Amino acid sequence: MRIEADLKLGFKDVLIRPKRSTLGSRSQVSLERTFKFRHTGRSWSGVPIMAANMDNVGTFAMAAALAAQGLFTAARKHYTPEEWTAFSASLPNKGWLAHVAVSTGILESDLAKLDQVLTRQPDLSFICMDVANGYSEYFVAQIAKVRQRYPDKIIMAGNVVTGEMVEQLLLSGADIVKVGIGPGSVCTTRVKTGVGYPQLSAIIECADAAHGLSGQIISDGGCTCAGDVAKAFGAGADFVMLGGMLAGHDEGGGEILEQDGQRLVQFYGMSSRTAMEKYSGGVAEYRASEGKTVVVPYRGPVADTARDILGGLRSACTYVGAAQLKELTKRTTFIRVAEQHNPIFDA
Ligand code: 5GP
Repeated sequence: MRIEADLKLGFKDVLIRPKRSTLGSRSQVSLERTFKFRHTGRSWSGVPIMAANMDNVGTFAMAAALAAQGLFTAARKHYTPEEWTAFSASLPNKGWLAHVAVSTGILESDLAKLDQVLTRQPDLSFICMDVANGYSEYFVAQIAKVRQRYPDKIIMAGNVVTGEMVEQLLLSGADIVKVGIGPGSVCTTRVKTGVGYPQLSAIIECADAAHGLSGQIISDGGCTCAGDVAKAFGAGADFVMLGGMLAGHDEGGGEILEQDGQRLVQFYGMSSRTAMEKYSGGVAEYRASEGKTVVVPYRGPVADTARDILGGLRSACTYVGAAQLKELTKRTTFIRVAEQHNPIFDA
């Protein structure tokens, strides 16, 4: 046994220090970024915020709504090849397909389905290889296999939280590594297993490792407000993935429930009992669910929420004098704090 004594930090432990700036208005801030990916040499431009590949968040309706504003969606993995074809045909703008990733697990059956989707939809350029624990040798081997099979696709893979594993995934074929174990809004991994890594420190350490190899990272999970999104970018994330913050919207397609005069929508983790009963016929004997099922207030169309997040992010950039999102990290100084917002009028 060994203890690492330096304190690891989450979003709640820091604030961003304001800096003198020549920017007159937040309208002068550009949130668009262009990335070139290490394995494919392809590039992508857009606002690097993405919807998580979860039920009621990573839906096709979400993908269309977010792509219209330049954002990205990792589609939930349970869509069939036929549904992908219908989605692709329904898009008013074919360029929006560059703002969607097809998600896959790593079983042979998952990869066979991936093949069917990509054969029918060759215009899709992003693959999201998603497992709860990205530390397994089998995962690494499957990334290498997918890289070999699709030399021109951009592969996002995760999740991990430490630099050495980011390097391993990049060297095995991933272009972008997804970072986060345990911070999610409906995640119970830390409670069930005692395993995890505070997200801000994970981003700082993993971004450093990835950028050294010309790779990118996605900060996945743990954002509770636009300020956290700004902190994630400030810490060095290239992309930020959101689940809970994008739950409860029309585009998620969840049933709207009425409870005590309030309109609510169900939201659940992809390793929750709800998800396992839906897709795997229940929770297998040897495992525990590592996700929660909750209800969140119904929030209408996602466009308003997205605008709110982008507004907050633009404002964060103005406070530190970053004219472009790209400059936010180098203009960020975090201060460690023992308080965040004033809760006096919180519900
Ligand atoms: P959020 O933005 O809601 O805080 O986090 C979203 C992320 O939580 C997802 O992208 C995914 O990585 C993670 N996640 C989703 N479902 C589950 C689950 O059932 N268990 C765990 N441990 N993590 C989950």
